[in-house]
Amino acid sequence: MVAGTGTEVGKTWVACALASELRRRGVVVAARKPAQSFEGEAPTEPTDAERLAAATGETMADVCPPWRWYGKTMAPPMAAESLGLPVFALRELLDELRWPTGARVGLVEQAGGVGSPQADDGDGVDMVDLLQPDLVVLVARPGLGTLSDISLSSRALASQHVLVYLNRFDPADELHVANRRWLCERLGLQVVTSPAELAGGVENLAGYGPAS
Ligand SMILES: [Mg+2]
Repeated sequence: MVAGTGTEVGKTWVACALASELRRRGVVVAARKPAQSFEGEAPTEPTDAERLAAATGETMADVCPPWRWYGKTMAPPMAAESLGLPVFALRELLDELRWPTGARVGLVEQAGGVGSPQADDGDGVDMVDLLQPDLVVLVARPGLGTLSDISLSSRALASQHVLVYLNRFDPADELHVANRRWLCERLGLQVVTSPAELAGGVENLAGYGPAS
């Protein structure tokens, strides 16, 4: 599951980069966005479903069911309510997940941060608890303020296998390097900073065997 410490931290970019890297290694990957909200009035950029579909070679409707697209920049359940559309529960979203045969890695990208509403009855942590993914990739900013965000998010996900992805990490930036060290040494977190390192982490997961 691809989660984030907040919105706009780069979850979709990381998910797309991971999918591309795994495909380059010959792994069949699928990506899902259970619900997406976006600027509906004057869209200026592709939706997450469009970007994920381009990265995995699926269709946008495969990635996110068309009835879970909400053209309003609010958390999906709030956007649904604002647009006068039916509210939905976490279980409904997860029941709609369909995986193609042959896919060895399935990515699910949340909306917003782990504390953001994903459905009428739960946030990102609740979604993780319900889905029980093999791994939670916690995407975070690399610079000032990120330690608090990561510390709180990872504590909320304490029962899960979490891998922190410091997005836009610059090895020449002293603060980025100090943050990575603090996360590893003081908070005992696993941290990666590149798509190749993340793909390696996914391939090292217990139970990740040869294609069958
Ligand atoms: Mg996104």
